Amino acid sequence: MAVMESLQTKELIELEEKYGAHNYHPLDVVIERAEGVWVYDVEGKKYLDCLAAYSAVNQGHCHPKILKALLEQSKKVTLTSRAFRNDQLPLLCEQLHQLSGMDAALPMNSGAEAVETAVKAARKWGYKVKGIPEGKAEIVVCSNNFHGRTVTIISFSTDEQYRDGFGPFTPGFKVIPFGDAKELKHAITSNTCAFIVEPIQGEAGIVMPPDGFLKEAAQLCRDHRVLFVCDEIQSGLGRTGKLFAYEHEGVKPDMIIVGKALSGGFYPVSAVLASKEVLGVFKPGDHGSTFGGNPLACAVARAALTALVDEKMVERSAELGAYFLAKLKTLKSDKLKEVRGRGLWIGIELTVQARPYCEALKELGILCKETHDHVIRIAPPLVITKEEIDWAFERIKQAIEK
Ligand SMILES: *Cc1c(COP(=O)(O)O)cnc(C)c1O
Repeated sequence: MAVMESLQTKELIELEEKYGAHNYHPLDVVIERAEGVWVYDVEGKKYLDCLAAYSAVNQGHCHPKILKALLEQSKKVTLTSRAFRNDQLPLLCEQLHQLSGMDAALPMNSGAEAVETAVKAARKWGYKVKGIPEGKAEIVVCSNNFHGRTVTIISFSTDEQYRDGFGPFTPGFKVIPFGDAKELKHAITSNTCAFIVEPIQGEAGIVMPPDGFLKEAAQLCRDHRVLFVCDEIQSGLGRTGKLFAYEHEGVKPDMIIVGKALSGGFYPVSAVLASKEVLGVFKPGDHGSTFGGNPLACAVARAALTALVDEKMVERSAELGAYFLAKLKTLKSDKLKEVRGRGLWIGIELTVQARPYCEALKELGILCKETHDHVIRIAPPLVITKEEIDWAFERIKQAIEK
């Protein structure tokens, strides 16, 4: 341990490069601890986190109340498997029902597993309830989507890099341009069981659909008896200034997929929320997960949701997001294409590669990550203060306008 602790940035990076797989290209900052919106590297340098682990730490790093729930539950019982019941799962399911209005929840671990669960539920609903002929179920998705990294999920990705070398792919998906209701209408057939969409596309670069698209999509789904499924793994739980991003258009999905901030970053917890008609297609033994719904995960998620509500983080996201966005819209540079966002989820689109700007921001004490090639995503924990936003803005201005 003593040896490890004395290792500094360069040595740690070399170790990771040598012994770890290279499936990421991280910024060269080695984080050792974090609190709220701030992270500290092994040299003791402090940074404002403007990524928030892709919105998994909306509640702020190491939130004390979530930490307390984690520690207390760890001493009681952490894993029972679903072969037995535990005293935390029912309370999490009830809380998710109260917050979302959905009848029931099915807990999983990673976001991708929850998306897989939604795909399985939609298909089974298609066969058992809608009456689609066996093996014919189709799911419509959008171009530039991001729903995770499993083979089935990348089977409906339009990003060549995500697919390259990973085939053969899972059939049964149709892609329409994001935001195009007319194309959605054309894509739907009597064999369509679901339309899966991110209400705002995060990984694509904080891309908002045209106004009215979600409403039209929801209506088309209703008219053709197709499940309207919102992947709120990144857009949900306060990030956009609403608890769920679909609320911006007043629609009601048939299925909601949540993850990331559901645990405030302490633990992988995800869930599918839906009606009894949809989740009811799963009978004992049809689907499951050893860790899904475990008492530690549920205790953490309960505390993470409670913190979000009690500390009015959704309201903060709306107010402070509007404040931050208005400031960022005053930036001037010929390299700047567009500044857009909703809540504390802001994309700064450049005409040039965003990576060097993220490197420059790191030197100025701000951590953010380029999204695809040209967008800097600004998504700090929702506990950020106005003063911290002012502090960040001065540095972003310096980096963009220099
Ligand atoms: C992150 C993300 C996922 C995948 O979640 P993992 O926990 O990384 O598997 C799925 N959908 C969206 C919209 C995401 O942002």
